[in-house]
Amino acid sequence: MPSPRHILGLSGGKDSTALAIFMRDRVPEMEYVFTDTQKELPETYEFLSRLEGFLGKRIVRLSDDRGFDHWLKVYGGYLPSSRMRWCTRMLKLKPFEKYVGSDAVVNYVGIRADEHREGYISTKPNIKSIFPFKEHGIKKADVFRILEESGVGLPTYYKWRTRSGCFFCFFQRRDEWAGLLREHPALFEEAKAYERIDPETGQRYTWAQGESLAELAQPERLVQIRNNARKREEEQRKAPQPNLPLVKVLAASDDEDDEPDEDERACLICEL
Ligand code: SF4
Repeated sequence: MPSPRHILGLSGGKDSTALAIFMRDRVPEMEYVFTDTQKELPETYEFLSRLEGFLGKRIVRLSDDRGFDHWLKVYGGYLPSSRMRWCTRMLKLKPFEKYVGSDAVVNYVGIRADEHREGYISTKPNIKSIFPFKEHGIKKADVFRILEESGVGLPTYYKWRTRSGCFFCFFQRRDEWAGLLREHPALFEEAKAYERIDPETGQRYTWAQGESLAELAQPERLVQIRNNARKREEEQRKAPQPNLPLVKVLAASDDEDDEPDEDERACLICEL
């Protein structure tokens, strides 16, 4: 029987990146893959290039040939949401499973020892998922240390957004949408252009529940969003830690501050 392939799926986020760094010398034959929805943030591509420099190996880029707009039509113009997450299935999971094919594969997943969730575990019998961070007791602070010590650091979107994934991901908080408007106004406009009102039913199709991006971008609303975010940060940060590098501030922050509830999370293939 041929030996299995070893595959580590990267999302462009901190945990899968730290796992890649952690595994580099442990499994030299590792295949690193990134499933590109073609709707990623520019910072994600830059971060992956930085990681490639550290790994000394190319990250295989996968993507669905038909793309988001095709699937949006197939799904009747319904924007994806936490209840209808067709985007993850069609743009992330399927291309990954196609790449794996019927080969026996060990799939490395970056769930940390301090997390309690299952994540994407393929039901395909030829894919066996393993969780090295759980096995080695690697927690959130260790992930930040691994990133810092390797020199890879954090993706620059961490300054204004807490998760990897598509620029229009519906898992974003309101202040992250405001961050997208500030950092990437053209991408914000692109996201906005997907929203619509059904002329017959008056049904609104928006990324954020109950509010369109046009409404969110109103100056007075942006002030309100900023104030709410500041208030939340003040409430959640147990002890302010001035003059620390960003990696340490993020490592010290309360989990709930930068990670949503379980049912609000993107699947691991998008998020970690
Ligand atoms: S990042 Fe968000 S929008 Fe993109 S595929 Fe994942 S869940 Fe869907």
